[in-house]
Amino acid sequence: SVRTRFAPSPTGFLHIGGARTALFNMLFARHHGGQYLLRVEDTDRARSTEDAVQQILHSLDWLGLSPDEAPVFQSSRAARHAEVAREMLAAGRAYHCWCTSEELVAMREQAVKEGRPPRYDGRWRDRDPAEAPAGVQPSIRLKAPREGSTVVEDLVQGRVEVQNAELDDMIILRSDGTPTYLHAVVVDDHDMGITHVIRGDDHLTNTFRQVQVYDAMGWYRPHFAHIPLIHGADGAKLSKRHGAVGVMEFDAQGFLPEAVCNYLLRLGWGHGDEEILDRDRAIALFDLKDVGRAASRMDYAKLTHLNGVYLRQADDDRLAKEVLKRLAARGVLFGTLGGDRVKALMPALKERAKTLEELTGAAVFAAQEGPPKLEAKAAAMLTPEVKALLADLAQFLNTAPWEREDLMNWLRDYADVKGVKLGQVAQPLRIALAGSTQSPPIDAVLWALGRTEAMDRILAAAE
Ligand code: GLU
Repeated sequence: SVRTRFAPSPTGFLHIGGARTALFNMLFARHHGGQYLLRVEDTDRARSTEDAVQQILHSLDWLGLSPDEAPVFQSSRAARHAEVAREMLAAGRAYHCWCTSEELVAMREQAVKEGRPPRYDGRWRDRDPAEAPAGVQPSIRLKAPREGSTVVEDLVQGRVEVQNAELDDMIILRSDGTPTYLHAVVVDDHDMGITHVIRGDDHLTNTFRQVQVYDAMGWYRPHFAHIPLIHGADGAKLSKRHGAVGVMEFDAQGFLPEAVCNYLLRLGWGHGDEEILDRDRAIALFDLKDVGRAASRMDYAKLTHLNGVYLRQADDDRLAKEVLKRLAARGVLFGTLGGDRVKALMPALKERAKTLEELTGAAVFAAQEGPPKLEAKAAAMLTPEVKALLADLAQFLNTAPWEREDLMNWLRDYADVKGVKLGQVAQPLRIALAGSTQSPPIDAVLWALGRTEAMDRILAAAE
């Protein structure tokens, strides 16, 4: 059955491009009823950190992309990588190379001087090991084919080919006994039973060397699918200067994980013009043949729009929880009543916001105890006449039955009796209740605040 893997190197936060690779791996596996695995490629001990591992796991969890099995740590498998290298040696598919680093540097300099690409010249390939110099630890090199070409039928890129003469015999086990990265990846993918390697197309050139290792071991090659990278709006590789790139930055900016996933899915993959696809729909439809070959461009405005769509569909309790967490992080003080008011107002609030951060900003007035801080524009509108109207309105509302459906009618009646337009009542009320000239529908605000709190605020504004 199908087994895919996501294989991040834990050298920093999880990049949004990596998240898309993980998503495609997960969707492909699910679509085929298979497994989606995670391998942490931490062989570069100097650059890998435990903190980065935790961040990546947390980011995947947030996206709903946690793997089906416990993660495999590449560094823990060094002995196995060495074992396979020795098997290849024993089978005559690899050989010891006793070149010193000085020799290799000289080889490279000579090539550069002659305008040739720097390649290992294969000087130990057929040489008698008896000639090995004393005191030099050998590395193990793959005995790569020299004639013909290496071909990969990539599920996204199509047929790609390289002349074997252009590839040299790569080191698979260094002289200190540590495996090289390209070798480790193959051994791990094989041992993990990976059937489809789906990764960024920056790894396409690595694939030729990797399939040579499969071939040398007589292992079945997996299928490969190299997906295009994500670029910024200007066509350059996506980086910080374009906007958020780390997955958790999207969380901080108030994006919902399902919106991020939906956006990433549509970036470089399409099914007609269907824009909104939830997880189940994505699993049902996902196929590698619909992944485009061109680099996709990250469009933050489009993501924000999509996030708004998901926000309006999201469960109110969940949103309220998120917003209260963010209010607390902003240092906004609120009690149980404030929390309840935010919850009560959520259906109205979420209609107007595109991100959780916007939603949080719009909820501050409802969470806080007592009269809101007035925006300058709102304060300027509190003229003596408006204050008088608010004082009068307070009396009227005090006797109103506090029924959600009726509040608007009460306000209409009041405006009729006073011979003013509804807006002339609603706007002062909004200023008193929310401290702003903008808020959700006024009856929703009144109802969410409750009579006591609403009265307090109106009277405070009327003073
Ligand atoms: N560790 C590699 C990376 O983070 C991925 C290698 C692979 O998927 O084969 O770019």
